[in-house]
Amino acid sequence: MRILVTGVAGFIGSNLADFLLAAGHEVVGLDDLSSGRMEDVPDGVDFVHADVRDYTACLASCSHVEVVYHEAALASVPRSVEDPVTTGEVNIEGTLNILRAAHAAGTRRVVYAASSSAYGGLSGLCREDACAHPCSPYAVSKLTGEHYCEAFWKTYGLPTISLRYFNIFGPRQRPDGPYAAVVARWAEILREGSQEPEVYGDGTQTRDFTYIQNVIEANARAGLSTLPDAAFGQTYNVGCGASITLVDLARRMSHAFQCAPRWRHGPPRPGDVQDSLADLTKAAATLGYRPVVDLDEGLRRYADWIQRSHSSRQTSAKTD
Ligand code: NAD
Repeated sequence: MRILVTGVAGFIGSNLADFLLAAGHEVVGLDDLSSGRMEDVPDGVDFVHADVRDYTACLASCSHVEVVYHEAALASVPRSVEDPVTTGEVNIEGTLNILRAAHAAGTRRVVYAASSSAYGGLSGLCREDACAHPCSPYAVSKLTGEHYCEAFWKTYGLPTISLRYFNIFGPRQRPDGPYAAVVARWAEILREGSQEPEVYGDGTQTRDFTYIQNVIEANARAGLSTLPDAAFGQTYNVGCGASITLVDLARRMSHAFQCAPRWRHGPPRPGDVQDSLADLTKAAATLGYRPVVDLDEGLRRYADWIQRSHSSRQTSAKTD
């Protein structure tokens, strides 16, 4: 099958492309390389260097494509706070372009990377039918993409599925920069061993941290399996279905990185919700999704990958 992955040079898009290529699919990958890196685009991807704000490029990329995985986005809350306009243009206009292009090209299915940030101030168990309360420009932009997906199914009959990801981590996630996700940032700190991870506030906040393999599993089910019409135009949570405190995360990551447990407390982050946990009932019932890698196993695999990629970077630096 010919499949388009947007955001193919990013963390989730590149891992998804790896999986699709290994399963024997032909992968077209679109990315503007604004935060993604060419070196992370898997060999075998038919790469298109383009911006999702360019409708003509989106349309050309959808040619003869059966399934679109739309992962490209400016994927950061702090960045959206600094520059809400560009976040809106890329995440909203870009998603609209991809949906229009997929429809015009006769694509059979679009799977959209939505975000648990849509739940906003809702604390505790997050169910898809809860009223969304986005708290940041990023969350508004991702939620708007979901609404467009629903509208394209209802209006044009384009089969769409939105997957709300919860705190994803794994290989190729960027640890650097002001917008880095907590697991990737702490992993780099623990590997270097020079400092302690900083826990915001008292660290009793809970999150549903989800290893990348679970996201691949959900995308495979949403994009490649036979589903009833009732499954389309819908949103599904994708998490691990278990939450832990940030202090517990620091402890478990220290264990995975084989170092003594340590962290320091910093000031609380304004706008952080206290607790967040994915209710997976709907994803299980309709998509047959169940997490395939639990948190500790995910942290172990991630720690292994970090150590291996650091060693290979050192070896290639020595031979250069
Ligand atoms: P990422 O930043 O690693 O990847 C995003 C990719 O999109 C990058 O390669 C970037 O270069 C590309 N991109 C950005 N603007 C573009 C544009 N205008 N045109 C074309 N390409 C563009 O982010 P990620 O963590 O891999 O996230 C993938 C998707 O999943 C995003 O839509 C994000 O909103 C969503 N998501 C991620 C998480 C998470 O925990 N990582 C959680 C919820 C939702």
